[in-house]
Amino acid sequence: MKKKKIYNFSFIALLPVNVNLFNHQPNIEFYNHMTKIHILKTDPTDNPCVNCGACCAYFRVSFYWAESESGGGLVPQELTEQITPFMSCMKGTNQKSNTRCTALSGTVGECVSCSIYTQRPTPCREFDQSWLNGIHNEACDRARAAYGLPPLEPHLPQIAC
Ligand code: SF4
Ligand code: SF4
Repeated sequence: MKKKKIYNFSFIALLPVNVNLFNHQPNIEFYNHMTKIHILKTDPTDNPCVNCGACCAYFRVSFYWAESESGGGLVPQELTEQITPFMSCMKGTNQKSNTRCTALSGTVGECVSCSIYTQRPTPCREFDQSWLNGIHNEACDRARAAYGLPPLEPHLPQIAC
């Protein structure tokens, strides 16, 4: 089993920034894995994320500020919030109640999609649905549980991203 990474951005790996120190909101950045997934606009029978979206409405989705447009990145600036001199997050995720990324469309647990899928930040690209490629993601389970959804089972098909 792969070891979980603490930071997903190699270029900030030396910065002692733990944004959880500023907010007790669970942080999606800390639960990244090496492979890619996320809310894909694909056949729901192939991808449970399209019927879920819980992680987009549970964790603070934080990333190095330069991933947003003002830093030359792709993430639409108006959908981000700066949380430290180095870190930004998706608007709507830096709050303890009614947490929900402003880019998330649809209803959590029913049918969702990411309205900025091709421009989403790194943590979204790297957060894996549980059991993708045989790797359990406890954070996926926890986000789903917060919405009354059962954990994914380990026999899901692998999804090429
Ligand atoms: S940017 Fe898209 S994938 Fe990332 S948290 Fe928001 S809705 Fe989810
Ligand atoms: S909580 Fe898990 S299953 Fe739900 S959208 Fe996120 S990665 Fe996919």
